[in-house]
Amino acid sequence: MTEKYTLKCPDCSEEIPDRYTNVCPTGCTGLIRAYYWKKQLDIQPLPGIFRFSDWLPVEGHLPSDAGPITYKSEALAQELGLSNLYIGFSGYWPERGAAIESCSFKELEALPTTVRMKEKGHGILQISSAGNTGRAFCQVSALTGAPVVVVVPESSKERLWTTTPAENVCLITVEGDYTDSIEFGNAICSIPGIVAEGGARNVARRDGMGTVMLDGAVTAGRLPDYYFQAVGSGTGGIAAWEASMRLVGDGRFGTILPHLYLTQNEPFVPMMKAWQEGRREILPETDMADARRAISQVYADVLTNRHPPYSVKGGVYDALSATGGTMDGITNVQAKEAEKIFIDAEEIDPDPAASVCVASLIKAVETGTVGKDDYILLNIAGGGYKRVAEDKNRFPVEPMFSVKGGSPVEEIRSEIDTWVNGHA
Ligand SMILES: *Cc1c(COP(=O)(O)O)cnc(C)c1O
Ligand SMILES: [Zn+2]
Repeated sequence: MTEKYTLKCPDCSEEIPDRYTNVCPTGCTGLIRAYYWKKQLDIQPLPGIFRFSDWLPVEGHLPSDAGPITYKSEALAQELGLSNLYIGFSGYWPERGAAIESCSFKELEALPTTVRMKEKGHGILQISSAGNTGRAFCQVSALTGAPVVVVVPESSKERLWTTTPAENVCLITVEGDYTDSIEFGNAICSIPGIVAEGGARNVARRDGMGTVMLDGAVTAGRLPDYYFQAVGSGTGGIAAWEASMRLVGDGRFGTILPHLYLTQNEPFVPMMKAWQEGRREILPETDMADARRAISQVYADVLTNRHPPYSVKGGVYDALSATGGTMDGITNVQAKEAEKIFIDAEEIDPDPAASVCVASLIKAVETGTVGKDDYILLNIAGGGYKRVAEDKNRFPVEPMFSVKGGSPVEEIRSEIDTWVNGHA
């Protein structure tokens, strides 16, 4: 049997068999990528995101209707004077067929990642998150019963809920900021049986997020000229670029890669600063001076990653370079104004990060960066929180352990061991 895909390292070009492998075994640093044997995309008769199974690193699927949806905007398009504005909506909005009950495109990552771990790995997934990613993995755990270990800052714990009870989540809250919980999460992975999800290095994460581009191109019948997304890590931007390359290879969607138009939330804009100065490296002293304070001031805190995969081979810098891309910054005031405009026009509540994205489109129209007839794919990467609250219960995920930032894992190692053994 031939595998439907192989993994390849961009640094040494080595082909790597997938054992839930997220880094090149010879120690290269670039992002390994999935190469699918099928060069033309067939939409499969499967639910939700799995209709794009041809280009997902999984063999099976899950019984979930959650997937990307795209529609051609009328109201916002008219407001902005755009004739070809397509909205990719990843959230809950049943009237438009959007069924992501955790309300962000992180569930597009969690679904194939959970399948990939079951098929190619062995272990319990560990996720560090400030909110949306953790909630998405809890939701998929509730669906499948697959155990997960989720580590979040104490202050984010109200963001963790599911629409059906999640019985197999080990939630750990860490007193401190996101960076403290990432560090504790990394340390937890030293416990046998717990495997780091992988973040941007995980091909299932990227190819899952890339389905927004696939759905956008299939819906419009062509690749867009521009792809708009708000970014914190930029993984969704890398994913959109990779998906575009596959669509060009397909031959039916055009030959030109969409320009990535990626946006951060002022005042925390490290990738914007580096890119605008033409640098592949982020310089902490210049690009994110006083990071803690800057992070505390942004409206959309899912956009505040201090270690984005920007410089690595196959990362954000390469994605922007290959697509003639732009990195912009948006203030809280601009984001909140854009949010009002979006809600009035499209009648659904966007995630704050999606409001940042809308603001960047408004700015690009005003400055003439995009033309009136350009094909635009606007990634509303989260939303429908109010809509889901009307239809579904919200079950809070309760912490199993609470620790202080910088604590050694030893404090709770034996209890976690017991939990792992009970769920392996
Ligand atoms: C995570 C997230 C983003 C940023 O995604 P990255 O591509 O990983 O930077 C944007 N919008 C929403 C709603 C998100 O949840
Ligand atoms: Zn390598």
